[in-house]
Amino acid sequence: MHAGRAFGFLAALFVLAFGLAVVLLAMDQQRVIDANAHLEEQTVPEIIRYQRLARNLEQLRQEGERIFAVSSHASRQQSMFVVTMIASHPSVLEHPGAAKLARETEQFLGEVVRQSVRDEQRPAIHYQEWQRLASRLGVQVDDVSIEGINLATSDLNVAADAMRLARYKLIIALLLVGLFLLAFIVLVRRHLIQPLQRIDHALSNLSAASPLPDFDTSRMLEIQAVEEAIREHHDLLIQNEQARQVLEKLANKDGLTGLMNRRFFMQSAEAELQRAQRYRRPVTVAMADLDFFKKLNDTYGHAAGDAVLCAFADLVRDSSRQSDLVCRYGGEEFAFLFPEISPTEAEVLAERLRASCANAEIGLPDGRTVKVTVSMGLADASECPIEIALKHADDALYEAKRLGRNRVVLGA
Ligand code: GH3
Ligand code: MG
Ligand code: MG
Repeated sequence: MHAGRAFGFLAALFVLAFGLAVVLLAMDQQRVIDANAHLEEQTVPEIIRYQRLARNLEQLRQEGERIFAVSSHASRQQSMFVVTMIASHPSVLEHPGAAKLARETEQFLGEVVRQSVRDEQRPAIHYQEWQRLASRLGVQVDDVSIEGINLATSDLNVAADAMRLARYKLIIALLLVGLFLLAFIVLVRRHLIQPLQRIDHALSNLSAASPLPDFDTSRMLEIQAVEEAIREHHDLLIQNEQARQVLEKLANKDGLTGLMNRRFFMQSAEAELQRAQRYRRPVTVAMADLDFFKKLNDTYGHAAGDAVLCAFADLVRDSSRQSDLVCRYGGEEFAFLFPEISPTEAEVLAERLRASCANAEIGLPDGRTVKVTVSMGLADASECPIEIALKHADDALYEAKRLGRNRVVLGA
């Protein structure tokens, strides 16, 4: 999966979830606003109407009480007038229960007032009956007041329910956002930060010598591409290192005989000589030159000369120790360095090589065989630089040639 697409998908999911939460919250807020508007526009006027009704019923009760309390007929008539007014007031008529009770009260009081014209004692007779009616009026006043309050309570309950719901939704939305962020951080850490850290570590330690760390398979295509590039780069480093080692060996070797070349011999011999001289250890150098090689070339051809050079190199390799340094010094000349060997001990080794060369039947490319001899000069190298030691060995070699060849001469 592409990282960009994956994180785009996550972001879209987040926006969707968050948008949904916002819409749900907005709906709850709208319910609160609607409940408020309903309270203001309808419930409050309704409550006022109920209050007015309660007040009217209460006044009805008070006027009734007054009719029974006063003794003058005019005062009773006055109260009766108010009772009639209230009983026919729209706020009373709108409410069926109150209207019925008010009508009943009006009729009862009207009858009492009419009877009181003929008999002053009549109201007192009906007082008990009035008290029952007055108490019903009192109950009606309470009922009407409670009804009014209930209206407001129901609106407030709707608003409170919506707000409670909104609070739960907000908490759930916040939890979801938190969970989403957590999941997002975990995903980013697992699929982006940790692979990048592994890549950083791998790049810092990238070399042909150290193995490549194991990359856990990443789901991100971009990360996979970088990991693949690192793998390819590491393979290339190993191939380059192998090629470098091969080239280094080739650069240090003589192409014909496979012995080390003069340049590498001089470097190695110098280091070996320094070590031997520092620890005062014996060390001997030697120069060898095949005898009458020009004649051999002239007689058997240049290819035969090459074959003889290779055969002599094989003899040298067979008779050398691991620690000895041998090189093709040039043409048909060879140089030796024998660490931990004194000149007299080296003379024995050189003699053995000379004898094995003289006894060898060397096969030529054309099937014929040929014999060849070698002259060698030796010199102590434990107290002088390599160039001087080789010069001394060369002088000894010259002496060996002068004395008739096929011999070993130990120089000064
Ligand atoms: P001496 O006994 O005095 O050493 O005589 P020589 O003939 O061996 O010495 P000289 O220096 O006169 O001749 C060396 C010859 O070695 C000359 C050259 O043609 C031959 N030679 C040098 N390098 C090579 C090579 O790589 N291959 C072949 N086949 N011949 C070589
Ligand atoms: Mg020579
Ligand atoms: Mg020679």
